[in-house]
Amino acid sequence: MDFDDTPQEAAWRSEVRSFLERHREELGSRRSDRNADREVARARQATLYDAGFVGVTWPVEAGGRGGTPMQQAIIDQELARLGIPPLVNLIGIGMCGPTVMAHGSDDQKQRYLRRLLRADDIWCQLFSEPAAGSDLAALRTRAVRGADGDWRVNGQKVWTTGAHLSDYGILLTRTDPDVPKHRGLTMFVVDMKTPGVTVRPLRQMSGGAEFNEVFFDDVVIPDAERLGDVGDGWRVALTTLMSERLSLGGGGTDIGIGPEAVARHVADHLDALPPDRQVLARQELGRAYVAALGSRYTGYRQLSKLSRGEFPGPEASAGKLASTRTARDLADLAVRVLGADARVATTRDGSGLWQELQAGLPGMAIAGGTDQVLRNIIGERVLGLPAEPRADKGVTFRESLAAERTKP
Ligand SMILES: Cc1cc2nc3c(=O)[nH]c(=O)nc-3n(C[C@H](O)[C@H](O)[C@H](O)COP(=O)(O)OP(=O)(O)OC[C@H]3O[C@@H](n4cnc5c(N)ncnc54)[C@H](O)[C@@H]3O)c2cc1C
Repeated sequence: MDFDDTPQEAAWRSEVRSFLERHREELGSRRSDRNADREVARARQATLYDAGFVGVTWPVEAGGRGGTPMQQAIIDQELARLGIPPLVNLIGIGMCGPTVMAHGSDDQKQRYLRRLLRADDIWCQLFSEPAAGSDLAALRTRAVRGADGDWRVNGQKVWTTGAHLSDYGILLTRTDPDVPKHRGLTMFVVDMKTPGVTVRPLRQMSGGAEFNEVFFDDVVIPDAERLGDVGDGWRVALTTLMSERLSLGGGGTDIGIGPEAVARHVADHLDALPPDRQVLARQELGRAYVAALGSRYTGYRQLSKLSRGEFPGPEASAGKLASTRTARDLADLAVRVLGADARVATTRDGSGLWQELQAGLPGMAIAGGTDQVLRNIIGERVLGLPAEPRADKGVTFRESLAAERTKP
């Protein structure tokens, strides 16, 4: 990969940069606003969308501008450089939108996609459940079709990021328990204001409350809101999961913090440490810095694939695995060097307090595929190692539930 901008990329970067600098006040900084106010966050995304900087790679008919992944990457880099807060509808753009685009009806695409890009509607992803996370296909939320053709949904989701802010969600349900678990699933778009949907925020150790439990009690979903065929929900969900892994681990943007930000901030404090701790901290900083640059360049490699029109395969899992590890190492190091100051010191790019960042990053090792599950994927699908045993292969979901219940 060539790390220098081509003349076209340089022209695009300068257009983006000058727009962002002109609108910097209106767009806010991470320090002043962390998407706490939904309306402020929506307005920020609308400003960027109206300038043509959101959904750049999406087709024009879906509300995008039919641009290249490199153009989008340049926008992301420039937003990060100026410390502008992340878009409020990232899950909508990164996961729900691509799923609607690939599997929705023309009517759904027309109604949802452009509004999603502009944050006129905010979206969430309703997949995980108390008994179904890594083993997502074991989910139990049940959708039953009534005589009128509509569906009635009962069950519970958990860890739903942004459900408390959302207008719509993509909802994976079980419609047939009498076939093997991956085959009896169906995906829907659900209006989060439908009677019977209850959203309860969960408090995290980092202090935030971005996740929720979501309960469905006899929630009616019209059949026109189905995404894909009945029983084909697993295939539809794979579109979401692949888009998620790409948007979390690819593209050469840093997870949470850039190595330069840490290096600069930590370096300022090194001299205050006792000499023996200084030596160790310098060594750790060097190691973590190099690893972080390595994962950034791994991201660029994926970006190169995308810009050649290729789709990154299971190796996207390696990018997410590596960038999560290095971000955690950098934040741990910063907190150890800063000591008690980490409770009040803000990261240089203003993305938050060091201690909050350190407490929040372990979540990245779980979201979008845990580290262990990603290692399984790399082992089986990249390295060709033998697959792990799957006890529920070939049995229906109902049978595997019954076997679960009779376990000693
Ligand atoms: C920051 C964050 C945001 C999230 N946002 C959303 C969201 O918006 N929507 C949504 O639906 N969900 C969301 N989730 C939930 C997330 O998808 C699940 O937490 C994740 O899939 C893991 O599932 P689990 O928590 O049930 O853990 P489990 O699957 O129960 O795993 C428990 C432990 O067992 C290990 N393990 C499980 N299976 C295997 C295996 N086969 N081999 C080896 N080890 C294994 C795991 O690695 C883990 O250490 C989010 C989670 C986080 C942390």
